Amino acid sequence: MSRYWSELARGLSPYVPGEQPRIADLVKLNTNENPFEPSPRVIDAIRSTAAGTLRLYPDPQSLRLREALADYHGVTPAQVFVGNGSDEVLAHAFAALLKQPEPLLYPDVTYSFYPVYCRLLGIDHETVPLDADMRICLSDYRARGGSIIIANPNAPTGIALSRAEIEQLVGNRSDVPVVIDEAYVDFGAETAVPLIHDHANLLVVQTMSKSRALAGLRVGYAIGDATLIEALVRVKDSFNSYPLGQLAEAGAVAALQDETYFQEKRSAIIANREKLTATLIRFGFEVLPSSANFVFARHPNHTGAALSAALRERAVLVRHFSGPRVSDFIRITVGSETEQGRLTEALADHLATSSRA
Ligand SMILES: *Cc1c(COP(=O)(O)O)cnc(C)c1O
Repeated sequence: MSRYWSELARGLSPYVPGEQPRIADLVKLNTNENPFEPSPRVIDAIRSTAAGTLRLYPDPQSLRLREALADYHGVTPAQVFVGNGSDEVLAHAFAALLKQPEPLLYPDVTYSFYPVYCRLLGIDHETVPLDADMRICLSDYRARGGSIIIANPNAPTGIALSRAEIEQLVGNRSDVPVVIDEAYVDFGAETAVPLIHDHANLLVVQTMSKSRALAGLRVGYAIGDATLIEALVRVKDSFNSYPLGQLAEAGAVAALQDETYFQEKRSAIIANREKLTATLIRFGFEVLPSSANFVFARHPNHTGAALSAALRERAVLVRHFSGPRVSDFIRITVGSETEQGRLTEALADHLATSSRA
């Protein structure tokens, strides 16, 4: 803090990302990155673009990528917005849609960037408790609130709502904007994208970071009624009119063109998730039913903090959140078979040598 800081800077409580440490031979299962490389076509496209026109500004509309996404999802380019990762897209959605006279509603256990944006943008909000099984109870969103955001599957629980449930919500609350954050949808949940044609209040946000293994490229997007997209564009053009660089656009388009690769890696991750879940259950964990590329699990005899510290000592990183209801759990990213083997060894070693007093 310095006397030169604005009142805004003083009042912020920034998001704390999972750590990216440099430890030799580290097994990194803490930030939900994809264990596989991106499609080789992505690398080729980025290379040839880099050899081309980097001295020029990129297309401010990212039309080539918006067309590719529109094709992929069966919508029009006017129904697609792109940004530097879905975090940026979400920030614009908070400013353009979710700031309303009545408070924004979201679950008490969810993506911890939401309260950060509320603070930055001065958005009044209320959290809605998950039920006893850590599930989102949509009836709690029926009668109040000026806007709604829900991650589906939810993070860090991994639990998904069905498309029919989302449809009921957006239908019941056609009076307010509803944002569905589908960062993990490709790992086993139903996307709400087809609902945008009948529900002009629905904005669906997705990312290439997780299922397309492009976290380092920073590409996210939103799909919704053209009038919602127009609001996002107004905010974007008041902030940064050239959001996506040429390399990001080229890589993202190439990723969409390699459907075989996408399906293969996505299935491999889902299969590894089932193996990881079985292993954890064998060790005595309770594992929430995940439709994501991570699992949220707790052990009856070990706290989340102790488990994550013990794993860290064995060079295996997982994520632990402090706070009511979640601090018993650890969130483990689904990794490669080798990484999961290392996790299994580390857990076996720790559980054999300790027990809670
Ligand atoms: C990872 C994540 C995002 C953001 O991903 P980007 O890399 O910014 O696209 C958004 N929402 C949730 C719930 C996430 O877990």
